[in-house]
Formats: sequence, C-alpha cells, structure tokens
Amino acid sequence: MPELPEVETVRRGIEPFILGRKIREIDVVHKGGNRSSTYAPYSAIEGAKVLSVKRRGKFLWFELNRDFALMAHLGMSGQLIIQDKNREYEKHLRVRIDCGDRKKEIRFIDQRTFGWISIDKLVLEGEDLIPHSFTRIAPDLFDEKFDRRAVIRRISKKNSAIKRVLLDQSVVSGVGNIYADEALWRAKIHPERLAKKLSEQEISKLLASTKSVMERALKAGGTSFDELYINVNGESGYFDIQLEAYGQENEPCSRCGSEIARISFANRSSHFCPQCQSKSPLRKVGKKKGERKKVSSKRG
Ligand SMILES: [Zn+2]
Repeated sequence: MPELPEVETVRRGIEPFILGRKIREIDVVHKGGNRSSTYAPYSAIEGAKVLSVKRRGKFLWFELNRDFALMAHLGMSGQLIIQDKNREYEKHLRVRIDCGDRKKEIRFIDQRTFGWISIDKLVLEGEDLIPHSFTRIAPDLFDEKFDRRAVIRRISKKNSAIKRVLLDQSVVSGVGNIYADEALWRAKIHPERLAKKLSEQEISKLLASTKSVMERALKAGGTSFDELYINVNGESGYFDIQLEAYGQENEPCSRCGSEIARISFANRSSHFCPQCQSKSPLRKVGKKKGERKKVSSKRG
C-alpha cells in the first residue's frame, strides 16, 4: 500500500503538469475508480482551474477555483500517471483526466479498486477551508499543523498496542505497515507494547524515527522516479531504501545479529527484532540481582 512518501512523490510528479491548467474532462472508464459518496458529479469540475496539489497523510487534494475539491486516494495499489493520450488503455484504467494538454493526460490505474477519485465539499478547519475527507484524518509528520506535543500526549493515553496507534490515521496520518515496522525498529520499541506504558521520550523518539525513515524514502523516490511515469504500485514500486525489519523475517538484525521475527497483526504482519525491541524492556534502575545483562551474543 502506498504510504506517505509514495503519495508525496506522486504529488510532486503530478503538480508541475497540472498546476494552472483547467480540467477539460474527467472520463470514468471503469466505475471502480468512483466513490459512492462523491459530493457532485465529475462534470461539475469541467472548466475548473487547478491551483495546487496538496496532501495530508495518504490523501491527495487538487485545489480548484471552486468551492469543492477533487480528491484522490491510491488505496492498496492505485497509480496516478501522466500518459500519452493516444496510448492504449491500461488493463486496470479507471479514470482519465484531460487537462487540456495536446499530448498528455492523467490516468488513474488501480488493480485492486480500493483507490478512488471523487469530488469533496470544502469545510472549515479552524480558519482554513479543507476537503471533507481531510477532517477524518490527523495532520501527518510533515504538516505545519502537526502538533508534536499534543500527539505525544494523545499517544501516551492510548490503551492499545503502539503499532496499532501508529497506524491510526486519526492520530498521525500517512504511516502504513512498512514504515511502522521500520520506525519501531529504529526506535527499539516492540510493536505490541501498550502505548500508555511508553515513556514520553520513547514516543518522541518513535515519531522522530518515523519522520526520518520517511524522509529517506522521499529522497530515494525523488531521485529515482521518472517525471512522466510515476509508479506507485504496491510493494514493487517501493523506493530502494534499506529495509531493516519489514519483510526481513529470519534475516539477521543489522544492529545485534538476532533473527528478525514476524508475528501476525490484524490480517497482516509485524516484523521486529526480539533482542533490540524487547516486549518488557529492563528498567534502568532497580535491576534485580542476577538479572542477565542484555548482550548481543550473536554479533559477528
Ligand atoms: Zn536487533
């Protein structure tokens, strides 16, 4: 599933092409790309000018000179690409957006049909008008509205596993399974530890790790993608970053040499190092007599 860095890379690829253009036509090739809750028919945006392309978490917002927005969510496998108009339709093509360019158009392709493009009404958030879809999700780690102190406080009150909290788009948006595993590994936190049992310092470190692993992915994506073909196709389209935990089951942890473990988690998996990411970390003070000092015995 495309997570924040992949969606941001799509945004950066699409925006220079569509900025300032008027949408001439939206053609729904296959209704799988539509969403039943769309605010207005697609025809309503014909003639609308695109003022910017914004993102919150995994949602894309095409800001228009209208009192509604064009929204896109890539779902599990969605792609937004800039394609030759006369190129034959891709097998899973859902929607074509004609922005008046003579040769190119934007195509929304989605194999698994969890993604969508829709028209959203604008609502107030504080003093800003934002698309209705944005109200359901929290600002992501790169958003100027992200309030680090408040988020740490919120996380520290949650009585559920920290990984579940990190994936909760109403707490922090943009994080999916892959970057959650990577961030937890970097912060040395077991995915099943209760959020409310984490120290403020641990939560703070986790948020910093999440941001830095996404920054690295963004850098990798930013240098490797073709400006005319932005491939965000599930895991195969993931950027070439060093994955330390996700998908590394039975591989040695690069920090301590222990084997990375996999446990099932909400129909998916969590990958972590049982040594570095202890489920019941030892307290620094009050260590019991005879308690074994943690050693990286498998190193080297
Ligand atoms: Zn380790």
